[in-house]
Amino acid sequence: MLFKIILVFLGLMVLVALIGRALFPSALPRVMRKRTTPPVCAKCGRYLIGRKTCDCGDKTK
Ligand SMILES: [Zn+2]
Repeated sequence: MLFKIILVFLGLMVLVALIGRALFPSALPRVMRKRTTPPVCAKCGRYLIGRKTCDCGDKTK
């Protein structure tokens, strides 16, 4: 009986995970997400890794 309850609980966990992944793909950890391009300055096109502003003064969102 206890084994059955654990199985049902695990099944529910998987179900919730699947539904959550379908509804909120952006909530996934970065490793599981598809590779996204790093933020690039809209003005000069330089990569903005680890910072939000560019040397040219433009801001990324
Ligand atoms: Zn720039």
